[in-house]
Amino acid sequence: MVPIATPLRPDLRPGPMLSIVIPFYDEVEVLPECLARLGTVLCGLDLQTEIVFVDDGSTDGSADRILSAPRRSFDVRLLRLSRNFGKEAAMSAGLAHARGDAIIVLDADLQDPPELIPEMIELWRAGADVVQMQRRSRNGESAFKRASAHLFYRILQRLSPAPIPVDTGDFRLMSRRAVDALLRLPERNRYMKGLYAWIGMPTAVVQYDRAPRHGGRSKWDYAHLIGLALEGITSFSVAPLRLATVAGAFTATAGALFCLWIVVKALLLGNPVPGYPSLVALIAFLGGMQLLGIGIVGEYVGKTYLETKQRPLYVLRDDLLLQGLPARASMEAVQRQHA
Ligand code: UDP
Ligand code: MG
Repeated sequence: MVPIATPLRPDLRPGPMLSIVIPFYDEVEVLPECLARLGTVLCGLDLQTEIVFVDDGSTDGSADRILSAPRRSFDVRLLRLSRNFGKEAAMSAGLAHARGDAIIVLDADLQDPPELIPEMIELWRAGADVVQMQRRSRNGESAFKRASAHLFYRILQRLSPAPIPVDTGDFRLMSRRAVDALLRLPERNRYMKGLYAWIGMPTAVVQYDRAPRHGGRSKWDYAHLIGLALEGITSFSVAPLRLATVAGAFTATAGALFCLWIVVKALLLGNPVPGYPSLVALIAFLGGMQLLGIGIVGEYVGKTYLETKQRPLYVLRDDLLLQGLPARASMEAVQRQHA
């Protein structure tokens, strides 16, 4: 744990601290703008702040942009993972290292506008442990992506043990106790939407318009998103297993009724041995049902196998602290950079 430095904003009474956690992977195009916009917002807050950047194995020199940015009146922590572990793991690393009393998770690509931070803090101060940011619109995303996201969120909502408001992602504020609760969940499989819902806590919801990416491109293709959707459903719901049971019971009943019908028909009308096509159709159908059932069971067996290995979620390569400068010196540093 890095010791807390002397206050960078002596104008503020020592009080609660805000951490901003930003996982990023190859975001060299957007990071300077992200830092600039965040800097403006954070310097206007009446809170001690830190930014925790998590470099999820970037290979495009993104981390250098952070190291070379002018110092501001808040600490910047740079955690570098040993390779690309995925956003979920990167976020977990950030949350585990954030020191704040309130913690906000933000995407580096500026799709989550940092200008909403003051509003989130207000709601936190009013007593919310979690401030969820709900997308009113998604600009710059294809109609298909929007439609599939819409459908997925609705399915998820039906299966979730606790209500998940639709169209909310990782952009959110969490209080210290909410983050501690999240960090206590030991599973390797970090399906965050499921975990957020599980911890509960008094929650406020803010609607916002999701901006298009500031630059660069999304790391998610459809194969990835479909994988994530399956992952999501199987990681916090056993509904598919239940579905397999119900489907099995249903087909078995239908099969028994069909047998009965054949016997009765043979008794009443004799047996001219028809029915080769129906036999093949039945075998194919039942074979398919069985494979589907085995596949569903396999998904859960696989999950159990991965969990039993108890591997850490990520491996840290570096943990750098760029200590902030007192407010006045930081202003001068920024002005020098822009001069
Ligand atoms: N990201 C990450 N690791 C990854 C993929 C993405 O840390 O393996 C970060 C990415 O840099 C961005 C955030 O996660 O800050 C959201 O990713 P992206 O914009 O690609 O996803 P989308 O907004 O399209 O869902
Ligand atoms: Mg994005």
